Amino acid sequence: MSTSITRSTCPYCGVGCGVLIETEGQQITGVRGDPDHPANNGRLCTKGTTLHLTATPELTRQTRLLQPLQRLTRQATPTPIDWDAALDLATDRFANTIATHGPDAVGFYISGQLLTEDYYVFNKLAKGLIGTNNVDTNSRLCMSSAVAGYKATLGADAPPACYDDVNHAACLFIVGSNAAYAHPVLFRRIEEAKKKNPGMKVIVADPRRTDTAELADLFLPIQPGSDVMLFHGLLHIMLWEGWIKADYIAAHTTGFDALKALVRECTPEHVAQVCGVPKEDIYTAAQWFATSHATLSLYCQGLNQSSSGTAKNATLINLHLATGQIGKPGAGPFSLTGQPNAMGGREVGGLANLLSAHRDLANPAHRAEVAALWGVADVPSKPGKTAVEMFQAAADGEIKALWIACTNPAQSMPDQATVRRALERAEFVVVQEAYASAATCDFADLLLPATTWGEKEGTVTNSERRISRVRAAVPAPGEARHDWRTVVDFAQRLEGTLRPGLPTLFPYPDAESIWLEHRESTRGRDLDITGLSWPMLDAQGPQQWPLREGETQGQVRLYADGIFPTADGKARFAALPWQPLAEPRDSRYPFSLTTGRLRDQWHGMTRTGTIGRLFGHVAEPAVQLHPQDMERRGLTEGDLVHVTSKRGSIVLPVQASKETGLSQAFIAMHWGAEYLSGRGSNGEPLAGVNALTTSAHCPTSKQPELKHAAVKILKAELP
Ligand code: SF4
Repeated sequence: MSTSITRSTCPYCGVGCGVLIETEGQQITGVRGDPDHPANNGRLCTKGTTLHLTATPELTRQTRLLQPLQRLTRQATPTPIDWDAALDLATDRFANTIATHGPDAVGFYISGQLLTEDYYVFNKLAKGLIGTNNVDTNSRLCMSSAVAGYKATLGADAPPACYDDVNHAACLFIVGSNAAYAHPVLFRRIEEAKKKNPGMKVIVADPRRTDTAELADLFLPIQPGSDVMLFHGLLHIMLWEGWIKADYIAAHTTGFDALKALVRECTPEHVAQVCGVPKEDIYTAAQWFATSHATLSLYCQGLNQSSSGTAKNATLINLHLATGQIGKPGAGPFSLTGQPNAMGGREVGGLANLLSAHRDLANPAHRAEVAALWGVADVPSKPGKTAVEMFQAAADGEIKALWIACTNPAQSMPDQATVRRALERAEFVVVQEAYASAATCDFADLLLPATTWGEKEGTVTNSERRISRVRAAVPAPGEARHDWRTVVDFAQRLEGTLRPGLPTLFPYPDAESIWLEHRESTRGRDLDITGLSWPMLDAQGPQQWPLREGETQGQVRLYADGIFPTADGKARFAALPWQPLAEPRDSRYPFSLTTGRLRDQWHGMTRTGTIGRLFGHVAEPAVQLHPQDMERRGLTEGDLVHVTSKRGSIVLPVQASKETGLSQAFIAMHWGAEYLSGRGSNGEPLAGVNALTTSAHCPTSKQPELKHAAVKILKAELP
């Protein structure tokens, strides 16, 4: 049988690597890196190279949801229901809830792994048809602080740099990012750039000495939550030494005097004490950052997943503005997105506080523009519930019907006890999902099978604003349907109740027609893609935005002219003070727990957990502690310990690791109920590290502090 090749995109991380899917007949038989995709030039990491193994017919039968299922009571085994009956049931329950309790009694929790077209119709369903802004996404847990940081300083949610800037940088400042594990193909690019240019300085700031830190010329093992103090301290030194670019500040920015006054107190001695690193190293970092001819900052969840996430992002951007390290090759603040399409979700406004094409819900003119685009009277002004707020509202009985798509909050949300209460208390829960093993399926009244990688058509946007096509190589298995199609079928039924007799708002025969409406919504906006088309993506490959009508290629980097998308065209310095952690460690809970990724696993392991070879790197869960902390507590490698926070407790083996600082602990985020069981503070069964984490969140971005919880660690008594 001959092999066919389909060009598509990896469904895992925000690097957004191109893949060539090999098929024989209707089976995926192999996967290779796409040599023509600019994100990876043919490379793939361990997760990408094993993608085809997740799509064998045998695994599909074992792991996938292949038909709609209904659960008559929460304890019952789900039973098959046909698609029409399933959609009628969902329509009936949502319409009744809206009629009885109002539109804000329903909520949609979606995913950065959905395609842009899926995201678009979910957003329009909630905000355009139903009239609620209760639509949020697991990208809230991933990049909402980056969005807020860009908007506060540069005026728009637009990462100004690109991957190629790694090759032009003289100094790389990697902070709050273990790119070696979370963005492996980008990290390979960094390693090669350093090899080619041994003079390049690499600074890594992170509480953990990760594999990424091994590449550093200067490693700053900062205390958890001290990032803002570090950035203020760097600026203090830059000011003192005269390393700032006064002409750039005068011409292109506002607000520097207030920031200057704020950082006056951030002396090297004070900063060294708060951050726990030598002042000489802080001085060196400031010098390299400010005086290198091009400095690129790469950052991720260490800044974002924080109760001061917006401040961390914005105060890092301050450094680029103060030194003019932006808008030129090799320079700029560059946030890395965790998920494959967190950017696409931002573009269509698929968060509770956003609207299409980077418009703001809080802006009446933006609401009116979107209402006109959609052909509805208005878009409601009441802010929607963000991820943590949505599950809290369901736990409180305020949200009564939940629709969850392509994400697994029963494992991935912080403070699992509250999430479990929410899922139990909600009167009707729809889970639209590809994998039957996702823990959230256990709480569904209705399960709707979804297509996934290798089966879907649409687009995604990676960390460098590059839009790539996702293409189907094989047909949908069983009765699985495309996510956008399920939303459209449901929306059209709901229109029969909410706007009877009117033309449909969802007249889409295919994914491309949705994308074309999205494209039109971007006209005149910072992410304008009116010059782009699917035929152009087919002919010329992935493209960066903006790409305006009449242009032949997208913009590689932004702000080269020093003009920013603010009212006066100037960037704004953020004079935001350092704030301590939401839950500092104390004598009862003396360890700082942080969570993060393993190199070879992805999220809740529904996909990667089916591949034996991906356990070769790390085979089982463990809590990593510094050897001195283990010795002090009489623990030896492999001892079982209770790790307990104010919200719950889990039991797992302890592992000595010099990566982990003193009084710190690390547990990977991936392990679910199959591997890591525990209890909530009321004795309820919980699983995974999020039994421990806190839902405390940044007041601006609403992103929860997944990177820190205070815990105690005690040896488990064996029976
Ligand atoms: Fe996929 Fe990310 Fe690995 Fe690329 S680096 S192959 S996008 S997981």
